[in-house]
Amino acid sequence: MPEIYDVVIVGGGPAGATAAYFLGESEKRVLVLEKETLPRYKTCGGGISTRFLNEMFPFPFDDVLETKVRTLSYVLKDKMVQIPVNPGEVAMVMRDQFDMNILAHVKGDISQRTKVRHVREFEDRISVETEAGEVFQSKYLIGADGANSVVAREIGLRREKNLAAGIEAEIPVPVEVLRRFEGTAAFIFGEVSLGYLWVFPKKAHLSVGIGALRPGKVDLRNTLTQVMGVLGISLEGASLQGHPLPVFMRGEQISTERSLLVGDAAGLVDPFTGEGIRLAITSGYFAAKAIIAEDLQQYARNIARKIWRSHQLGRILASVFYHYPQICFELVVRNPFVSQGFVGLVSNRLSYYRMLMLMLGSLPVYLGVETVANLINFMVGYNESQQIRRIVYPNQG
Ligand SMILES: Cc1cc2nc3c(=O)[nH]c(=O)nc-3n(C[C@H](O)[C@H](O)[C@H](O)COP(=O)(O)OP(=O)(O)OC[C@H]3O[C@@H](n4cnc5c(N)ncnc54)[C@H](O)[C@@H]3O)c2cc1C
Repeated sequence: MPEIYDVVIVGGGPAGATAAYFLGESEKRVLVLEKETLPRYKTCGGGISTRFLNEMFPFPFDDVLETKVRTLSYVLKDKMVQIPVNPGEVAMVMRDQFDMNILAHVKGDISQRTKVRHVREFEDRISVETEAGEVFQSKYLIGADGANSVVAREIGLRREKNLAAGIEAEIPVPVEVLRRFEGTAAFIFGEVSLGYLWVFPKKAHLSVGIGALRPGKVDLRNTLTQVMGVLGISLEGASLQGHPLPVFMRGEQISTERSLLVGDAAGLVDPFTGEGIRLAITSGYFAAKAIIAEDLQQYARNIARKIWRSHQLGRILASVFYHYPQICFELVVRNPFVSQGFVGLVSNRLSYYRMLMLMLGSLPVYLGVETVANLINFMVGYNESQQIRRIVYPNQG
């Protein structure tokens, strides 16, 4: 008789690894099936909130943090806004090491180079078949196999997907270029329709990339090469890796009687920021919780409450932002109350609803301060106008 696991998890990314970790801690018999050799490269900027990680996991991530972010830099054509970030809030990781750090803490079996091909759901169990013809049985199944999820296809979920796309390259650069971006995560808007480019600093290189909500309409490769060229980052000879980004579209069925989809497989990427690691981890945690409670419906309820509701508004805000970038840049990105709120958003402390309230609530104060500061600049001088901004705005260094 083949061994019956409590849970088989397909995919060893952050979603699958997190679910496996929390299930293992609850003494569930877990098997993770990962098609790649571990640790595996994943096309990803690797920006993540360290505050979120520390709140989520009892073990440290210090050894796999490449760099800590001190400033978020937003660029729109000739305009730039720099937002100071509290130390220890946001960091950059390389995903092979980062994902391995979670997997290393899993109490359970991990089978690498094991590609899942078929899944069958029976009344009393799940049967998972690999490409090599091995069959595993379990009570529950977690589909954590990313944007092109085989599990989703096999159990008949997520037939309609919203696949945005990103291209990423790891670029060794001269020391002076690396220094220019030290501690700064840069986001460049206005160069690609419904998307943005980024430059993220790693220990000894830069991760650069471009993402767009409707990738079919734009030449992502050329735009990336061109814009990076202007920044003094040459992509000549670089290997550009493309990958789909399953951004949230709408609330939909992501579970059955015995199976749950998590992370990219469930289409949970933030529709505004393109961020997905935090959502993958959050959903992996909720999946484990629901299985431990033997209440799979709890999973859908938690995802709806903690992720979808906020994402729905995020979609609307993204659409407004990308259609009116200039005005949004002036009223939202430049507004320090809101830009600090953005750090709260990526660390799971604020939803898009709280962001919207922050935006609307702070607008009169922001416009008042800016009017006074501009008047002082005109009549007295720049330094004096900055004085008033420093007094009123929070955490502006
Ligand atoms: C260009 C780009 C930049 C990004 N930058 C960021 C960023 O800076 N910050 C951020 O938060 N998010 C970012 N994201 C999103 C983020 O990478 C994903 O949301 C995140 O990796 C989702 O995690 P996951 O565990 O759901 O899936 P994945 O990380 O994709 O893991 C899925 C795993 O399943 C395995 N697998 C797939 N099929 C099978 C199979 N049939 N059998 C067995 N195993 C299988 C894969 O090998 C993989 O290891 C970016 C994405 C892209 C494309």
